[in-house]
Amino acid sequence: MQWLENTRAFMRRDQVFDIVRPSMSSGRLDTRHGPVLYLEDVTVSFDGFRALDALTLYIDDGELRCIIGPNGAGKSTMMDVITGRTRPDDGAAWFGQRLDLLRMDETEIARAGIGRKFQKPTVFPQHRVVENLELAMAGPRGVWSALTARLDPPTQERIDEVLEEIGLANDGHVLAGQLSHGQKQWLEIGMLLMQNPRVLLVDEPVAGMTHQEMDRTAELLTRLAGRHSVVVVEHDMEFVRSIARKVTVLHQGSVLAEGSMEEVQADPRVIEVYLGE
Ligand code: ADP
Ligand code: MG
Repeated sequence: MQWLENTRAFMRRDQVFDIVRPSMSSGRLDTRHGPVLYLEDVTVSFDGFRALDALTLYIDDGELRCIIGPNGAGKSTMMDVITGRTRPDDGAAWFGQRLDLLRMDETEIARAGIGRKFQKPTVFPQHRVVENLELAMAGPRGVWSALTARLDPPTQERIDEVLEEIGLANDGHVLAGQLSHGQKQWLEIGMLLMQNPRVLLVDEPVAGMTHQEMDRTAELLTRLAGRHSVVVVEHDMEFVRSIARKVTVLHQGSVLAEGSMEEVQADPRVIEVYLGE
């Protein structure tokens, strides 16, 4: 029944890239039980300095993972590797069992389902909230046609869903530039959601937020986990404590400790690293 196997394989969404990349090795990993993201022995050097040093990290499908660690630990560099911004000198990075991230460029990785939210919100301030969401969905259609074309009903439905999700249901027609800092951050998360990513990488989401905004962000990220894998890099320990399930502590480019918040906080090596900051 080889043909049946082949047909099944062809129907799998994450297999699409195999068609264009026949040399890709396959079958090593299996997303159906377990990780959606694999980093193995990833090393990144800048002029001989190791920003990542044989970093090994697995993210499960649908999990909410917090990554903490002192400044310079390599957290942003790790996200750069996952999103194809930085190529490691060594190691492996896989999205599921079939997509070799090190053979894909940034656009391919984003299209395959890994969305990243940078620290600073990058919304279009002169456009309304709904238009920002439309633009986020535009993709190859381009910005101009996205703004001039009529929205087909499924798109409109998705926009309404996302507006609700990010708590901006009553602000769809507000100019993005007039939103509060926290609302802009939510809008940017909403823009990522328009592409329905499997993995969401979020770099310091609550920097500069009020306490109330932080609480709502915690709720939002917690809700998104399950449907998406959510990887949160955050400095604010109180915030991490409020959402944490599994926490990974990075230090000098590799994993220092991993476990529940209580476990890592009680780890003497973690205490030492944070006291030294
Ligand atoms: P974190 O996000 O945990 O604060 P980063 O990943 O930004 O840490 O940085 C890790 C280390 O790598 C830091 O010492 C930083 O100075 C260095 N680094 C990051 N990017 C570059 C770069 N493009 N060129 C040189 N050094 C860099
Ligand atoms: Mg950083």
